[in-house]
This record gives sequence, C-alpha cells and structure tokens, in this order.
Amino acid sequence: MADAGKFGSCCDGLKDALAGEDFEPLIAVDEDGVLYMSVGLLDTEKDDEPNMVDHPVFFCPFCGTKLQTPEDVDAKTAHS
Ligand SMILES: [Zn+2]
Repeated sequence: MADAGKFGSCCDGLKDALAGEDFEPLIAVDEDGVLYMSVGLLDTEKDDEPNMVDHPVFFCPFCGTKLQTPEDVDAKTAHS
C-alpha cells in the first residue's frame, strides 16, 4: 500500500514534486512506502525504455527535513 501522503507534509516543494501534476516526477513513493529519487537513467540495449536508477531519499531535498532512515527503508523492503 503506497503511503504517499506521509511524505510531502514538510514543505510545498516536496508536496508539489510528489503530486507531479504538470510533469513526470523523479521523486516517488513505491509500493513499500519508501520514498525514492531517480538519480539517473540507465541505458540498456534490450529495453526501449531507459531504466531509472533510484536511490532512497533520507532527507527532503527541498527543506532538509529527515523523512526516513536507512533502518526504515530496510524494514519496509525486507518483506518483499
Ligand atoms: Zn521538505
């Protein structure tokens, strides 16, 4: 269950980035409830679509609020 509402309460910058109404956001919450940021594109020969390289976001890139810890991410991703 995605819990996107949990993130974005710290500032409008992150809220708008997650809403992504006018653009394809590079910050997203996955099905585990972990906030990820795309840090680059992986060009693969076999896929038409380039793969996004994601990295968990621990601090809000806009205001610096601590959003989650590596332990949170480990706990959320451990079951899958
Ligand atoms: Zn913020």
